Amino acid sequence: KELPADSNKNNTRRKVFEACYSYVTPRIPSNPKLVHVADEVAEMLDLENDTQSEEFLAVFSGKKVYPKTQPYAMCYGGHQFGHWAGQLGDGRAINLAEIRANGKQWTLQLKGAGATPYSRTADGLAVLRSSIREHLCSEAMHYLGVPTTRSLSLVLTGDDVLRDMLYDGNQEYEKGAIVCRVSPSFVRFGNFQLFAARKDHKNLKNLADYTIRHFYKDIQAEGKEKYIAFFQNVVNASLDMVLHWQRVGFVHGVMNTDNMSILGLTIDYGPYGWLEGYDPNWTPNTTDSRNHRYAYGNQPGITLWNLIQLANALYPLIEDAKPLEAILEGYQQDFDKKYVEMMSKKLGLTQINAKTEQLIADLEENLQLTETDMTIFFRELPRVQKKNTAQEAFQKVHISFYKPLELAGKVTAAWLKWFENYLSLLHLEEGKDETRKFNMYDVNPKYVLRNYMAQLAIDAADKGDYSVIEELYELLKRPYNEQPEYEKWYAKRPEWARNKVGCSM
Ligand code: AMP
Ligand code: MG
Ligand code: MG
Repeated sequence: KELPADSNKNNTRRKVFEACYSYVTPRIPSNPKLVHVADEVAEMLDLENDTQSEEFLAVFSGKKVYPKTQPYAMCYGGHQFGHWAGQLGDGRAINLAEIRANGKQWTLQLKGAGATPYSRTADGLAVLRSSIREHLCSEAMHYLGVPTTRSLSLVLTGDDVLRDMLYDGNQEYEKGAIVCRVSPSFVRFGNFQLFAARKDHKNLKNLADYTIRHFYKDIQAEGKEKYIAFFQNVVNASLDMVLHWQRVGFVHGVMNTDNMSILGLTIDYGPYGWLEGYDPNWTPNTTDSRNHRYAYGNQPGITLWNLIQLANALYPLIEDAKPLEAILEGYQQDFDKKYVEMMSKKLGLTQINAKTEQLIADLEENLQLTETDMTIFFRELPRVQKKNTAQEAFQKVHISFYKPLELAGKVTAAWLKWFENYLSLLHLEEGKDETRKFNMYDVNPKYVLRNYMAQLAIDAADKGDYSVIEELYELLKRPYNEQPEYEKWYAKRPEWARNKVGCSM
C-alpha cells in the first residue's frame, strides 16, 4: 500500500480527504448461495479447484475476510452527465485484495457488499437482476474481444433489497446479490479528477506515479514527459475500447468520467444495451432519454469529452497545455481513420478509398430506413457473393429488417443502389468469396447479449432456475462461431421486448 489510507476503519458515510481509499468491512450476508462461477476467470486466477468450497462462497459473498487482507473502497469523483459531481467513490464496491496469478496482477472487487464511506444516500447493495446483467455481459464482452473488466462469481446474499421500480414508481423487494469483478485495476478518470479538483497535487502525483509504475510499465520517460506519455497511452486505450463498442453495437449508457477506466477497460455495467434496430441516437438509459448524451453514435465524442476532463486533471503535473491539446486532436484523426478501417473489415473490403468511405456513410443511412438489426445484418452480409445481382445480394439481408419492406418504394431503391455500389467494390477485391466470408465472421459476431436474453436469464433465476445463465454463458464464450445447438439465440428481438431496457440499480 503506497498511499496514505484513511485510518478510520469503518464504513460511515463521509468526505474523505488526502486518501485514495478507505478500509471497509464487507457486510455479512444472511444466507449466501452460489449462483454461477465463470470457470475461465477462476482458472485465470488459479482458483479453479476452490470454486465449490465453503471458503470460496464465504470470501466472495463478503461473509469472511480472507486472512491477512484489508478490504477497501476507493475514493474518486466525476462528471455525471456533463456536470462535476464532487466526491463519489466506491459506494457499493469493495476491493478485497490484489493477487498475483499466472504472472499477472489482479484486483478482486465485490459489488453489492454493503455501504462504504462513499455510499452517500444509497444502500451499497445490488440486486440479482443487475448482477446477472453485469456478470454475463462482462464475460460476453471479453469473448467478443472488447477490453473489459471480468466477473468471477455471482452469489445471492439471502437478503432482500428495496428498489424503486422503473415504470410505476413503486418500491419492491428484490433478491440481493454480489458479483466479484476482476481487473488489473479499478482506477478511473475520476480518481485523478478528485485530487485535481481539491488541488491535492501531492496525491495526484502519487496516484499517477503508482498507475504508471504498475500498469503502464513501458513508459520510460521522466518528469513531465512521463505524464504526457501516460496521457497518450490512456487516450490510445480509450480509443481502442470505444472503437470495439461501435463495432459490436454496444451502448454503455452511463459514460460518466467515474465510469471511465484508466486502463481503457469497459467498466460498470449498468443500463447498457446492444443496438438491435441500428440507430445512432439510441440509448438504453431511460434517465438519458431526453438528451441522448450517451447514445450509440455519441460514444466516440463522449470518450473525447471525458479525455479532455482527464487532461484537465493531469494538467498540474505537466503545466503545459500544448502537448495535451495535440494528443486530443490526434484522437479525433485517429478515430476517424480507425473507424473507416474497422467498418471496412465488417464489410469485407481490404481496399480503402473515398468510395469505401461513401459506402460506409450511405450504409449508416440505409440501416436506419428499415429498422435493421445490426448484428443480424452484418452476420448475413458475408453470404453475398461477387456473382450476385444487387437484388440477390439484398435478399440475403432481408431477415435483419424489423420493418416490412414496401416493394419498389424509395427504401428498396436506396438499398438496391447501395448493393450495386457494394458489389462494384467487391469486384475490385482479389480474395475469394469464401475467404472474405470467414474474415467477416471474425469481426461480425453472431451472438451478443441482447437485453431480452438477459431478461430471460433473470426471470428464470428469480424462480431459482440458473440454467439460462449457464446456457448464455456457454453460448457467449464463442460469439463468432456458428453454434447450431444454440441457433434459437440468433434471432431478432421478439416484439414483447421492444422498448424494454435493463435497469442499472
Ligand atoms: P454509477 O452511475 O452506477 O456508476 O454510480 C454512480 C455513483 O453512485 C458511484 O459512486 C456508485 O458507487 C454510487 N452508487 C450507485 N449505486 C449505489 C448503491 N446502491 N449504493 C451505494 N452507492 C451506489
Ligand atoms: Mg460507477
Ligand atoms: Mg453502476
